[in-house]
Amino acid sequence: MESTQTTRSTLTAAATTTLHRRRNTAPAAAAIVAEARREDEHMNALDSMAASLHNLYYDPATKEFLSMPGKALDKAEEIARRVWTAVHHQHLPAWLRDNDFLHHGHRPQLHSVSECFRSIFRIHTETGNIWTHLIGFIVFIVLATCFFVRPWIEIRWQEVAVFSAFFAGAILCLGFSFLFHTLYCHSEKVGYIFGKLDYCGIALLTIGSFVPWLYYSFYCRLSSKIFYLGLIIVLGTLCIVVSMSDQFSQPKFRPLRAGLFIALGLSGVIPATHFVITDGIYHAVDHAALHWVILMAVLYITGAVIYACRIPERIWPGRFDIWFQSHQIFHMFVVAAAAVHLYGMYEVASNRPFFEQHCPIDSTGDTPYAADAADADTNDAAGISFVQ
Ligand SMILES: [Zn+2]
Repeated sequence: MESTQTTRSTLTAAATTTLHRRRNTAPAAAAIVAEARREDEHMNALDSMAASLHNLYYDPATKEFLSMPGKALDKAEEIARRVWTAVHHQHLPAWLRDNDFLHHGHRPQLHSVSECFRSIFRIHTETGNIWTHLIGFIVFIVLATCFFVRPWIEIRWQEVAVFSAFFAGAILCLGFSFLFHTLYCHSEKVGYIFGKLDYCGIALLTIGSFVPWLYYSFYCRLSSKIFYLGLIIVLGTLCIVVSMSDQFSQPKFRPLRAGLFIALGLSGVIPATHFVITDGIYHAVDHAALHWVILMAVLYITGAVIYACRIPERIWPGRFDIWFQSHQIFHMFVVAAAAVHLYGMYEVASNRPFFEQHCPIDSTGDTPYAADAADADTNDAAGISFVQ
């Protein structure tokens, strides 16, 4: 009985203790639960904010807004590049330093092709070089067009072919030169490529100039005509190959380049001498327009020598930075020489009936140009009236 009472007392005490403990811990647990709920709400709020920011960031309008500062910087850089000012020779990169005697007014490197073409209308050291050959290029396109729209009954296909060679040479030469002087400040690579094309153009013009003269002057002498045409084509091709080589494009080879091209031009002395020996100086001048050919050669050589010697800027450095520098003079001599030659070739072409009438009957070893001779009396007896 006593033990039962003791047990009941013990249980009552334990229940009281437990109840007491529960009473003490309940507020703390409630506080923890409340704190957890607040944390949860806070996290939800943060998640919601993050989602909103994510949506905002990937919204196209936001992207456009955020890219505005970068675009503004790009635009500012583009404007800064466009608004360039001419610089002193010393401030040019090494690959743009071509002529030490031209001090001021150089274009800096222009990074876009369109900007290079816009520079055509600005005043700088290349303005004269660009326009001298751009005008020549346009003039020769007009002259070629006038030639080819003539009634074809006046012209034989061989004449069309030989004049095409001349016009192609002149137009390519002047066109390549214009492009070179316009674009060579774009970058070293672009300048390098167009520099080579510039020299190729000179070789093409030289070859094209000889073709019509050899065609008419050796009208009845087929073997001589083929030999001299072959000679000039081989020499011209050699000039083109050398021009395209990397070594040859260095500034230190400038005298060599000029010398090689002078040699190409002088190679025409051989057929001219041949003609004078066989036909006499009177006939050479009166029918083969030798005086025009000589004038053309003098103009080319004079221009090339002026270019190689860099006169007049070598004598007065800094005084011919913009106008009348050696390269511009050289350009003007090239255009003048091509124009003189074309006039001479028109004169020679108008003498075609004379050459046809004096074709030998295969007595010298040279075969008369039978095809042309046979055509002689079927065409206009007065020849082509290129020269009015
Ligand atoms: Zn040039």
